[in-house]
Amino acid sequence: MTARPTAAVIGGGFGGLGLACRLQAAGFDVTLLEGREKLGGRAYVYEMEGFTFDAGPTVVTDPSCIEEIFEAAGRKLSDYVELIEVDPLYRLHWEDGKSFDYCKEEDALLDQIRQMSPADVEGYKKFYKYSEAVFEEGYRKLGAVPFLNFWSMVKAAPQLTTLQAFRTVYGRVADFVKDEHLRQAFSFHTLLVGGDPHKTSSIYALIHALERKWGVWFPRGGTGALIQGLGKLFTDLGGEIRLGDPATEIATEGNKVNRVTTKSGWTKTFDTVASNADIVHTYEKLLGATPRGQQAAKSLKSKRFSNSLFVAYFGVKKQYPEIAHHSILFGPRYRELIAEIFSGPRLPADFSLYLHRPTATDPALAPDGCDGFYVLSPVPNLEKAGIDWRVTGPEYRDRIFDYLDERYLPGLKENLVVSHMFTPEDFVTELNAHAGSAFSLEPVLTQSAYFRMHNRDDKLENMYFVGAGTHPGAGIPGVIGSAKATAGLMIEDFAPPARVEAPKRAETEAA
Ligand SMILES: Cc1cc2nc3c(=O)[nH]c(=O)nc-3n(C[C@H](O)[C@H](O)[C@H](O)COP(=O)(O)OP(=O)(O)OC[C@H]3O[C@@H](n4cnc5c(N)ncnc54)[C@H](O)[C@@H]3O)c2cc1C
Repeated sequence: MTARPTAAVIGGGFGGLGLACRLQAAGFDVTLLEGREKLGGRAYVYEMEGFTFDAGPTVVTDPSCIEEIFEAAGRKLSDYVELIEVDPLYRLHWEDGKSFDYCKEEDALLDQIRQMSPADVEGYKKFYKYSEAVFEEGYRKLGAVPFLNFWSMVKAAPQLTTLQAFRTVYGRVADFVKDEHLRQAFSFHTLLVGGDPHKTSSIYALIHALERKWGVWFPRGGTGALIQGLGKLFTDLGGEIRLGDPATEIATEGNKVNRVTTKSGWTKTFDTVASNADIVHTYEKLLGATPRGQQAAKSLKSKRFSNSLFVAYFGVKKQYPEIAHHSILFGPRYRELIAEIFSGPRLPADFSLYLHRPTATDPALAPDGCDGFYVLSPVPNLEKAGIDWRVTGPEYRDRIFDYLDERYLPGLKENLVVSHMFTPEDFVTELNAHAGSAFSLEPVLTQSAYFRMHNRDDKLENMYFVGAGTHPGAGIPGVIGSAKATAGLMIEDFAPPARVEAPKRAETEAA
């Protein structure tokens, strides 16, 4: 029998976990190396004073892409995690007092649009048709395609041209709806994957159809429960996880990678290596001793990286039942604010916020009678604005808390029990994120598909990438799609023996 190829996956974010599970299920022997003491990456979890705070992704779309990972391993997602549907998908608020429930069901959504601007109902229906068409082409057909060569891009070009992929999301939305509130309501989503709606390709309008068709979900126990579920699937299949020991070097011989070494001095040879860590970090630090690493890092650094985020997690000994699970709180400016966030050169004076209230769906995430929240403000990355977040962070948090207390969460400050911040500097120190970017490369057309990081290195033939820096990009469905594309390549390249059902870890230990 052919031996099982050995693979190291560096990084335990959604992308790394998705890839590790697929490879292990396909017959590789996989070792997952995570630098922090917990899996999750952007989807880390803070447990504080009885509150459970998901650090990052909270809007779970397209559960079927996660289900596919379990299916590839002959398992069922529902045996590991319970997903709860969230509706309205979002509640949007503007400073002029208007609000909008962004619903999944058509009648309810049309009703909301009618209340906001009756003249836009027909235009919205046309926009939805457009969004569905982009979804078919951009997500269903191209979402998990590894764009390794220019030819693959040329093949996709006719569809992209028909769909006007060279236009922007905001531009396309504005073709169909006239009311500015609605234009914001149907274009803000690119911000969830690190894109300025005024610059991001209209391909990203597919997010609207994706959410309308398949809904928005939240795992019982929080997004962290989904990470735990993927981690358990991986170990159930016989995979090995090493936590709290970051990789420091990927060694090469000729045009192949062959060995990984970690901070503790642990070192092991592998047939192949895949990195879910930040792409600049991987080339500059892990492959920094090689000419390929130095050249690729230099080239990547000349690209545009997405914005960063300021996030404050907080628990209050009070409940706010009128606050939806997902709220978008638009500030006084939209286009101008976003332009400043993406270009700097300083922290904008105003903000627009995303407010997460997971206790709306799962009250067990906070002690009785309490609510747990996080508030997120998109801010410039460290390359665009050199802000000293150790000084600015606490001031900025207090300004945001004042704003929330005044407008949306009365009594917040006097009922605050616990709070924690994550700033652009933490993206660097905790996650090795280049320039503190929250979503890696900015998703503009010139940095998408073939023009994004390839899932396999162009020179090192057994070195692969997975996660937000690769095609199709950031967001849970994006990085899970990239895991599928990368796994497909690795399986093709290594032709592992047909999968043999590995014993469950618990059984192995008991034996
Ligand atoms: C605050 C926030 C909110 C978000 N909200 C949403 C949302 O609601 N919905 C959505 O779909 N998306 C959302 N996103 C985007 C989404 O979370 C990310 O795009 C996605 O989780 C990234 O996954 P990844 O696998 O690419 O990388 P990551 O999650 O960053 O994982 C990379 C991992 O590599 C590890 N690592 C780095 N260097 C090393 C090393 N040298 N050795 C070992 N390990 C290393 C890191 O510790 C990390 O665990 C959000 C992002 C943020 C930051």
